[in-house]
Amino acid sequence: MPAALPPGCTGEQVLLAEHTTFRIGGPASLVTVEERGALAELVAGPHRWLGRGANLLVGDQGVAEPVLRLGAAFAGCSVLRRLGGRATLAVGGAHDLAKLVAFCAAEGLAGPEGLAGVPATVGGALRMNAGTATCWLLDWVARVEVLLPGEPEPRWLERAALPAAYRSSGLPRGTAFLGCELELAEDDPVRLKATATRLKQAKAASQPLALPSAGCVFRNPARDLPAGRLIDQLGLKGARVGGAEISPVHANFIVNPERRASAADVAALVALIRRRAWDERGVVLEMEVEAWACPDHLQRHPRELAAA
Ligand SMILES: Cc1cc2nc3c(=O)[nH]c(=O)nc-3n(C[C@H](O)[C@H](O)[C@H](O)COP(=O)(O)OP(=O)(O)OC[C@H]3O[C@@H](n4cnc5c(N)ncnc54)[C@H](O)[C@@H]3O)c2cc1C
Repeated sequence: MPAALPPGCTGEQVLLAEHTTFRIGGPASLVTVEERGALAELVAGPHRWLGRGANLLVGDQGVAEPVLRLGAAFAGCSVLRRLGGRATLAVGGAHDLAKLVAFCAAEGLAGPEGLAGVPATVGGALRMNAGTATCWLLDWVARVEVLLPGEPEPRWLERAALPAAYRSSGLPRGTAFLGCELELAEDDPVRLKATATRLKQAKAASQPLALPSAGCVFRNPARDLPAGRLIDQLGLKGARVGGAEISPVHANFIVNPERRASAADVAALVALIRRRAWDERGVVLEMEVEAWACPDHLQRHPRELAAA
């Protein structure tokens, strides 16, 4: 824990396994930010941002830097105005993405229903430009409120200033995402709810949602080559190291079925997949899941990896 926390935040010692969907990760100082006034001091030193922990693999020894998360003061969601069949919505970075999807569908505001089933906070989803086969969160963002690295105060950036790409907001590492405004068109709430339900059912039918994981481990190497299909073709479904398993349901998921996998177990499976993809198909698989304090071979070229 930092020796003295600024006013407007609270701190606690936690196991990050309790704050990540993988249920893996060692100890850390978790600081919840409740007031904007606390931000400048907190980000002046080393730190990491945590959302819902749905895209993270955290090392078993934990992390030394304070881990920051936005508190309830950043969790608002409200319609600012409606005009000519369109609406502007303000959403805080700590707001749960699933609640945003449900709110928009109920209000008859189209777009976010395409993200049904993606576990995230809005801040984490902005940072990752969370998306599905049909859309990205940044498709509906009009502007974002961010604290850029090295700047003392938050500011708003128009969507056009974000060089967004697949699973990336395009803003520099260390940017804090405090919230956003969405521009949405009005639509039939019944149709929007039906779409959200259908997308969630499709995910449940094709992904191991009942087991701890961090979603898809690897980025798709090409539009016509999903990483899951490649790993399946390599015959790796069901492979295990320790408590970690390549899901028999969806090969781009590594799962932690008995909640006893270590980060090292997952890292060994990642190394195995990357080495086989390189050796047998000449494909370099890049991780989509972000690794904190994990073995450095996760970042090395697969040709350097010894047999796992
Ligand atoms: C079962 C399952 C299914 C999934 N399906 C999808 C899918 O279909 N599409 C998809 O895109 N993703 C999917 N994911 C991955 C995950 O949902 C997304 O990456 C999501 O955006 C992570 O949000 P988070 O709040 O959990 O962020 P975290 O995992 O906590 O953090 C992810 C990154 O964002 C940073 N971050 C978090 N909050 C902030 C903030 N306020 N300011 C600055 N940086 C921040 C973190 O430092 C880290 O770099 C899935 C995950 C699971 C477990």
